[in-house]
Amino acid sequence: MHLLNADLHSHSTFSDGSLSPAELAARAHAGGVALWSLTDHDEIGGQAEARAAAERLGMAYVTGVEVSVTFAGETVHILGFDFDPLNPALVEGLHQLRAGRNARARAMGDSLAEAGIPGAYEGAVAYAANPELVSRTHFGRFLVDQGHCSSMHEVFQRYLKEGKPGFVNHRWAGLGEALGWITGAGGVAAIAHPARYRFTPTEEFALFGEFQAHGGRAVEVTCGSHFPDEVTRYAGMAAEFDLLASRGSDFHAPGESRVDLGALPDLPGKTVPVWSLWADRIQERPAVQRAAEALR
Ligand code: AMP
Ligand code: MN
Ligand code: MN
Ligand code: MN
Repeated sequence: MHLLNADLHSHSTFSDGSLSPAELAARAHAGGVALWSLTDHDEIGGQAEARAAAERLGMAYVTGVEVSVTFAGETVHILGFDFDPLNPALVEGLHQLRAGRNARARAMGDSLAEAGIPGAYEGAVAYAANPELVSRTHFGRFLVDQGHCSSMHEVFQRYLKEGKPGFVNHRWAGLGEALGWITGAGGVAAIAHPARYRFTPTEEFALFGEFQAHGGRAVEVTCGSHFPDEVTRYAGMAAEFDLLASRGSDFHAPGESRVDLGALPDLPGKTVPVWSLWADRIQERPAVQRAAEALR
């Protein structure tokens, strides 16, 4: 089960990715992915297209989402997998969460205008295929294309991260609220890219403890934004907290994302993959069988 090429973290045009769900499915398949999940920010509108495209290609699919949460004053991302995408509380909760984004984007535009960059709100909106989901990534693409910065990395460093002119503090979902939506819809929750949060050890311990107390089951161990020592560290945290381990590229766009779909190293040997929960379903898929045969 460890050696299954699972990629359980990616973004489409329904949030801040640049490819449609079907284009992403094709790219995942070409990258050797046997189990895939589309995990758009705060949005599940792409799930039906993603699942249908995956199934046409013989890839196993689990529904996915990446929920924005505020915990201890910091933004934390919680991945949800294998939930019922029609669950009313989940659908409504995510809708409410997205509703806060537009006012935030306007405030970001105002703040950038004060810093000497006019028109950034309109600019970002023009890059967002989903009008409910204007994100910092869209501002970033606008600022790069306008020549204010040469890369997305630079744009976040200079304009979009906390303390910079385009950053506007925002209150996302509560941790318990997000966990309630995911588990209430029959899903499994995972802490996304834990090494990216600037928590003290005490705060991090509180995040893992509260996450688990609210029914969280997994943590992303191998992901696009973890360095090798961080993979080892969170494999250790998974063991300490008895959490399942997830693996996902966090792919957003060709030429922009460091890691492509399916291209990550395997999970460390001592972890228990989150997809062991879905073993019965994924074994039936042709792509999974081919992968299993190749290992024999
Ligand atoms: P938002 O949800 O609007 O705050 O946007 C967050 C998104 O910005 C993340 O999901 C990433 O896609 C992107 N992002 C955050 N930090 C960086 C960074 N340093 N470089 C590139 N993209 C980033
Ligand atoms: Mn993103
Ligand atoms: Mn994230
Ligand atoms: Mn992501």
